[in-house]
Amino acid sequence: MSIQQLVRPNIQALLPYSSARDEFTGNGEVFLDANENPFETEVNRYPDPYQRAIKEKLAPIKGVSPSQIFLGNGSDEAIDLIIRIFCEPGQDQIIISDPSYGMYQVSAGINNIEVIKVPLTENFEFSAKEMLGAVQDKTKVAFLCSPNNPSGNSLDTSEVEEFIKSFQGIVVVDEAYIDFASTPSFTDKLDTFPNLIVMQTFSKAWGMAGLRLGMAYASEEIISLFNKVKPPYNINTLTQKAALEALNNEAKVKQEIQIILEQREWLKEQLSAISITEKIFPSDSNFLLVKFQDAKGLFDFLIEKEIIVRDRRKVRFGENCLRITVGTADENKKLITAIKTYQK
Ligand SMILES: *Cc1c(COP(=O)(O)O)cnc(C)c1O
Repeated sequence: MSIQQLVRPNIQALLPYSSARDEFTGNGEVFLDANENPFETEVNRYPDPYQRAIKEKLAPIKGVSPSQIFLGNGSDEAIDLIIRIFCEPGQDQIIISDPSYGMYQVSAGINNIEVIKVPLTENFEFSAKEMLGAVQDKTKVAFLCSPNNPSGNSLDTSEVEEFIKSFQGIVVVDEAYIDFASTPSFTDKLDTFPNLIVMQTFSKAWGMAGLRLGMAYASEEIISLFNKVKPPYNINTLTQKAALEALNNEAKVKQEIQIILEQREWLKEQLSAISITEKIFPSDSNFLLVKFQDAKGLFDFLIEKEIIVRDRRKVRFGENCLRITVGTADENKKLITAIKTYQK
């Protein structure tokens, strides 16, 4: 399979915008090339369009080369660009597991791309065979989410690998929650599978959802397609600065992850001792999908107590399920105390 054959013809033919900062790299002293205001503030200059400093730091952490990284305005931007690079509106399709993260479908809808949904099992397990069986001629991109949102579990690695091997299109593995998982990242497999894109984000474990910074890792060939299509200055100066600071302080994030994992186990124990809890689904992430006897009643009660969890009763196999993010020890105690009050 050739990647170029999967790319939309208009994107193949596109001559990308060339910015002032594209056309000059090196050591300038006087910058009169970009019509900026010359009076110095933190943000009077355009940012680095390729975020080189961040990629230099991130690459060794992730075991990839800087040329295998795309940075976007949240994972949302990566999802949208992937669809726009590979899927012809009104003609091509994406394929996704169900239930899964809602943005794949929304982004496909905005781009007038049909979505094929393949159910996971009732325990939210993924089968390569099931999904391959649902693929059609015009299915260009598959989105798999592992650990999966909203169920929390990692998809079986060998099933995912089998799918990537057999599918004749692009496979996106969304690893937004990988830092909480016991399974290794698929970034290790980028050199094995030329059709693989791995997405991660600064929004969850890295603690910077407000920054809007997502990563996609792929072959240099695919990353150059992202660079061709993205808005030239898609990551602003302040975001780049904050991300660099965070990358210089990785130890702090690792510590926080450890605390969140301990708290996840504590929450699991506490919830399983509560009689209205019917089932706690296995989690490799920073949240728990929990089935209760009366999820709607509990959900409303918690809102009265100003504790907000996510109602997931309407997703496939999510009957009577609430999705609970692991908070601080104090927040988690408040939640458990409130649930105990409700059940009395
Ligand atoms: C939270 C989440 C993201 C993160 O999206 P951002 O736009 O980077 O904040 C991506 N994928 C999944 C499955 C998520 O749950």
